[in-house]
Amino acid sequence: MDAHNFIYGQWVPAVDGQTAKSINPGNLNDTVGTYQDSTEADVEQAVQAAQEAAKPWRKLSGAERGAFLYKTADIMEERLDEIAKTAAREMGKTLAETKGETLRGIAILRYYAGEGLRKNGDVIPASDAKALMYTTRVPLGVVAVITPWNFPIAIPLWKTAPAIIYGNTVVLKPASETAVTCAKVVACFEAAGLPPGVLNFITGSGAKVGQSLVEHHRVNAITFTGSNTTGKKIGQTALARGAKYQLEMGGKNPVIVAADANIEQAVDATLSGAFKSTGQKCTATSRAFVDRAVYSTFKKLLLEKTKEIVVGDSLDAKTWMGPLASQNQLANCLAYIEKGLSEKATLLTGGHAIDQEKGSFIEPTIFECRDHHSSIAQEEIFGPVLALFEVDGIEEALRLANDVPYGLSASIFTKDIANMLAFIEDMDAGLIRVNAESAGVELQAPFGGMKQSSSHSREQGEAAKEFFTATKTIFVKA
Ligand code: NAP
Repeated sequence: MDAHNFIYGQWVPAVDGQTAKSINPGNLNDTVGTYQDSTEADVEQAVQAAQEAAKPWRKLSGAERGAFLYKTADIMEERLDEIAKTAAREMGKTLAETKGETLRGIAILRYYAGEGLRKNGDVIPASDAKALMYTTRVPLGVVAVITPWNFPIAIPLWKTAPAIIYGNTVVLKPASETAVTCAKVVACFEAAGLPPGVLNFITGSGAKVGQSLVEHHRVNAITFTGSNTTGKKIGQTALARGAKYQLEMGGKNPVIVAADANIEQAVDATLSGAFKSTGQKCTATSRAFVDRAVYSTFKKLLLEKTKEIVVGDSLDAKTWMGPLASQNQLANCLAYIEKGLSEKATLLTGGHAIDQEKGSFIEPTIFECRDHHSSIAQEEIFGPVLALFEVDGIEEALRLANDVPYGLSASIFTKDIANMLAFIEDMDAGLIRVNAESAGVELQAPFGGMKQSSSHSREQGEAAKEFFTATKTIFVKA
């Protein structure tokens, strides 16, 4: 597919006509499609389109806006297989995973369609008995949505759907690695008859297109998910010009396995948390702190199960773990594995690229670590590399688990209520998971991190309204 920009309801090429290729990371000879390598001139057109559509869109009722989201969901359902297959080819997740992600996207659309009918403010008693005082939530105007490649369907939707239902218009800039998948998602909105300019889609390099969107004086809010380096830059620019912003960034998510844990359950959750999506979920498990009493049992079972993982083509039904999303991701993971070795961590399994000529395949990798300040124990690798630690009880586990700059997701495996309560109380993470893997997000619940994982607002569920609207307090006197 040749993905064009989508501006004011039309698929258009970039003003200067440049395009770039999107390549299947699991088959370097397979070109998934092309996308526009846009420039500032395209950003200008997209923002103008969103600006023009803003007033009529905000004048519609929530129910009228919701009807477009319901229709988009139905169309996405019809196109599920095609969208899921494109995503699997474009970023390497298995087809089962991208189907699950597409279904999640459909559910998100329906959830936010329903938001159009939910309450939009409160009545507050005024001190004057003859006055009426109430609040209402109003849209912000033009919102820039900037998204990463690891959830190329769900993340654009969990930002775009609430932005639209609350009456904003959107310029969506997806990750370059997954621009073609995202174009297919946008085409569902087009087919649903969304009015021109409500959702605009523009592709091209983050440094060029993303940056000029963030700097644009008519963009009133920016919602971003991606790396900390980019997030920090966006936050500074937005703050300097008074735009509202929301940043969801990296993680170094721990699992704690207590002495009384169900070991089989803990092993399965660690395996899935660390290696599903080839370790490229922001909530992926990247550190495991296991009580000395069960360490060797846990380690033995984890290694046995890890060695059974089938790595392969994302479209092959036998594949459990697809390739990394790009050659860059592969180089980055291999560099961290080298660092782990040079930092004297013990490589228990994995550590090598597979079939490098064909694509960015890598073995699921586990290091046994002692140095908790080493790079592989502290930095987000964003690949299937797990750091395993033996600890003396819950207190030590919690102390080490908290001693990183991130605070996105964390899980514990235990049957002891005292352990659970200590973990819930003392673990610095936005997502606290008890007897459940660190990666797991429910669309109706607030999502977001603490510390450097987030700018501390929340996405999804009702929490999204907080970001995508402003509150007006109204006082009316007879
Ligand atoms: P990234 O490199 O930061 O890119 C994210 C998006 O920002 C892409 O669309 C990128 O465009 C764009 N961008 C790059 N430079 C920009 C700039 N100067 N101004 C504006 N936009 C810019 O992140 P990624 O590699 O795609 O994603 C991986 C990261 O996302 C990981 O750190 C992961 O933890 C994080 N993540 C967090 C969550 C969460 O909810 N907390 C969820 C998923 C992923 P290009 O693609 O064109 O460079």
